[in-house]
Amino acid sequence: MPIRKVSFEETLLRSVVEPRLCVGCASCVISCPFNCLEYSSGGPELISECKMCGICAQVCPRFNTSLSSLERFVFGRERNTTEEFGVYRRILVAQTSSDDVRMVCQDGGLVTSLLIFAIEKGIVNGAAISGKSSDEPLKAVPKLALSRNDILECAGTRYTYSPNLLALKEGVQNNVGKLSFVGTPCQIHAVRKLQMLPLKKYADAISFTVGLFCSESFTYNGLIKSFFQERMGIKLGEVSGINIKGKMILRMKDGEVKAIPLRDVKEYSCTFCRACPDFSAELADISAGGLGLEGWTLTVVRTEVGDEIVSEAESKGVIKTKPLEDKRLIDLLIKMSRRKREVQGGFIH
Ligand SMILES: Cc1cc2nc3c(=O)[nH]c(=O)nc-3n(C[C@H](O)[C@H](O)[C@H](O)COP(=O)(O)OP(=O)(O)OC[C@H]3O[C@@H](n4cnc5c(N)ncnc54)[C@H](O)[C@@H]3O)c2cc1C
Repeated sequence: MPIRKVSFEETLLRSVVEPRLCVGCASCVISCPFNCLEYSSGGPELISECKMCGICAQVCPRFNTSLSSLERFVFGRERNTTEEFGVYRRILVAQTSSDDVRMVCQDGGLVTSLLIFAIEKGIVNGAAISGKSSDEPLKAVPKLALSRNDILECAGTRYTYSPNLLALKEGVQNNVGKLSFVGTPCQIHAVRKLQMLPLKKYADAISFTVGLFCSESFTYNGLIKSFFQERMGIKLGEVSGINIKGKMILRMKDGEVKAIPLRDVKEYSCTFCRACPDFSAELADISAGGLGLEGWTLTVVRTEVGDEIVSEAESKGVIKTKPLEDKRLIDLLIKMSRRKREVQGGFIH
């Protein structure tokens, strides 16, 4: 694809950052060949004169993104009208077979189990994922995981935004080798744009992607600091986990469970999420979500690469799987996907 000679200011600053559509994924920052961009306060900041190579605009998930051309790139075809949550090969529910994963995972531990399996089998050398900030444990931070322990430490969901592409950059810079990538739908869009361009150093490094279903992310200062800490008086160090199952459920270390209606936290959702058309990470190799299930991960296997990993993990007993028999879950998946597409901002077509 020819690269137009346009500046960061004319493209991303004007059409994405200033209108507050930037998701803060860092794809522009990690792609700038001249290191003109720095990741600062959740987005790109121009730190030296833009050389107008235009690459940052080519990899931004919020700038001139054509879902149809990304689908053709990933699947070799566009979805048909019945494929409401994107192209896929099979759909199932999955659960880890490992006790140590079960103790720390968010839903069924499918994601953590696959990442560990891939690293232990030598399919990848590392994983670009999200971990916990060491001083603020409810804050998501990008993490380059290189071992089973690293991956276990990152299990579970933080509902604040984590620019996992920064971990991808770290892996590539350090010549780690093949990497798996986990991220929200917007981050999967960015990764696919990097691969499609292609930016070879990233395209060559990525082995497979796992996309997380996502209704929205929340701001750390809003949800965690203002609401949990200040308004509810919650000691953040006492929270052992957060999940969303119709309500926001906070599990405390002493066993107490607090259920918060989603309408009470709505104001803390990231504004940029309101323009996102993708609920189920429709461009990932494997997509994973909880969708109201307890102890199982709803798993959408979309590509051949994804199918190989899931099938091998199934056959080696790393994960247990069941067909998705409850039609209500499919209906819910369709409903969530439609809802997101209806609010999309028009920058994806
Ligand atoms: C912001 C956000 C919103 C979500 N919203 C929904 C939803 O509305 N409905 C739904 O069904 N599912 C949602 N999910 C997905 C769900 O929470 C689980 O991640 C998914 O079901 C996989 O469960 P698991 O037990 O297999 O994952 P685990 O084995 O626990 O692994 C989770 C993986 O997610 C990574 N991760 C954690 N936090 C983040 C983050 N903030 N950004 C990127 N990566 C992260 C971790 O590094 C880990 O590798 C959301 C996830 C996120 C991050």
